[in-house]
Amino acid sequence: MTPNPTPEAGAAWLARSRATVAAEPLAARAQTLGRVEHAADGIAQVSGLPDARLDEVLCFAGGSLGFALTLDAERIGAVLLDEGDAIEAGSPVTGTGEVLRVPVGPGLLGRVVDPMGRPLDRDEAVVAEAHMPIERAAPAIADRALVTEPVHTGVLVVDALFALGRGQRELIIGDRATGKTSFAVDAIINQKHSDIVCVYIAIGQRANAVRQVIEAVRAHGAPERCVFVVASAADPAGLQWLAPFAGFTIAEYFRDRGRHALVVIDDLTKHAATHRELALLTRQPPGREAYPGDIFYLHARLLERAAKLSPELGGGSLTALPIAQTEAGALSAYIPTNLISITDGQIVLDSHLFAANLRPAVQVGLSVSRVGGKAQTHALRAVSGRLRLDYAQFLELEMFTRFGGLGDSRVRTQIARGERIRALLTQPRFAALRPADQIALLAALDAGIFDAFPPALIAELRRRLAAQLDTEAAAQAKALNAGGELDAAARDTLIGVVRRLAQSIATATPPATP
Ligand code: ATP
Ligand code: MG
Repeated sequence: MTPNPTPEAGAAWLARSRATVAAEPLAARAQTLGRVEHAADGIAQVSGLPDARLDEVLCFAGGSLGFALTLDAERIGAVLLDEGDAIEAGSPVTGTGEVLRVPVGPGLLGRVVDPMGRPLDRDEAVVAEAHMPIERAAPAIADRALVTEPVHTGVLVVDALFALGRGQRELIIGDRATGKTSFAVDAIINQKHSDIVCVYIAIGQRANAVRQVIEAVRAHGAPERCVFVVASAADPAGLQWLAPFAGFTIAEYFRDRGRHALVVIDDLTKHAATHRELALLTRQPPGREAYPGDIFYLHARLLERAAKLSPELGGGSLTALPIAQTEAGALSAYIPTNLISITDGQIVLDSHLFAANLRPAVQVGLSVSRVGGKAQTHALRAVSGRLRLDYAQFLELEMFTRFGGLGDSRVRTQIARGERIRALLTQPRFAALRPADQIALLAALDAGIFDAFPPALIAELRRRLAAQLDTEAAAQAKALNAGGELDAAARDTLIGVVRRLAQSIATATPPATP
């Protein structure tokens, strides 16, 4: 990744941005000159710009940019977007009469940009179709349609139990290092099989972590249909603050043209901290946990922009997967509860499960998708109906029988079944399952194929299943992958394939000696 953009790049950005803004009333404006009173920590107090508006872009000495965050009678609290050394007390400031805009259009696909749309991957400028404001109103109620089409992630536990729909907002929440980013990246990578455009927004992440995400998508996914909007930990707080808004505007371009977009925001806890930092530095009154009072509204305003549009508006969709980090699993902290109430469900990742190597570490008891089954394909819904209940019962029974030996034979069967479900739901990274694979596995589970199959061998079976289905049940697999229905004959064929594969794996592997 190239180093931070220079102030010259900022001036060039402004010139390009202006070039695509229609009707330019600026020439008629008297050019008033403001002055920096005080500049530190990414904030400048500016006096003498009486015409400045909220969110207006301000131009500082050396061509670096900032925007007006607060307007007082005397002063403007401006957030700096470049690390310009030239900004010091007394240096001049001019208003631009424009709100912040980002370049949008197909030219961004495959690119890594900062929240102003300046390239970070190579020197070549981004080809923009237009420049859109980063703050845009969410679609009205009448402009929306029901969320009914699936976003297939390839991760069995999510697709079977907490299915995502196009236009849904699903929070990914968990402690540090519980696989939050990994799950989101797997979901992005799996979109290589769909028509969904992905926007990954990195806020305050380590540059190395962002690099790993980009490389994973380049190695396994369809990078030519992804945009990476990056404000890493070393970037000015102002840029980190802008990142999610800019990323949504970039994704909305596709939503508004009848296409489908998936936005991952990694992560909103850091964004909240940045918002708090900027608010405290511009002397806004602190509220709970020192966050300013508008933190809920800020994130609600952002996430409401995710929507499934009505057919009259083209039927496009924008799905949001915001990520939030918890401390010691405290879902009831301020920012997590805010985000849980804004979104349509949450996938909770648990550090104990993660440590026990049960990954993805999804806590099925606390996770929920409020759209869920309505967005699942009929075939997947048909085979995953009982899964959640069976698994929940198993988790409870396991707790009870841990100390007191096994109960009657019915309990033993339930526990055996549960252990197989757990093995099925444990899935390595970059090993997405297609809908047909998922349906075959769940149908076989329902039919009891795995009851006598050692759970330790399930990973091996899962690895070999796709190839087996493609040779023995190619037509059925193709139909199911395209969202087709599952009739009784196809179901039997799939179960047959899994049974034969299970037999061949079980006979090839000698049973472990006790
Ligand atoms: P942070 O809080 O630092 O952002 P995170 O919650 O985003 O962390 P990740 O960085 O995604 O967590 O994952 C942490 C580690 O767990 C990584 O090394 C990743 O490779 C590993 N990991 C994540 N998911 C899986 C999985 N399904 N199977 C095996 N390893 C996994
Ligand atoms: Mg992460």
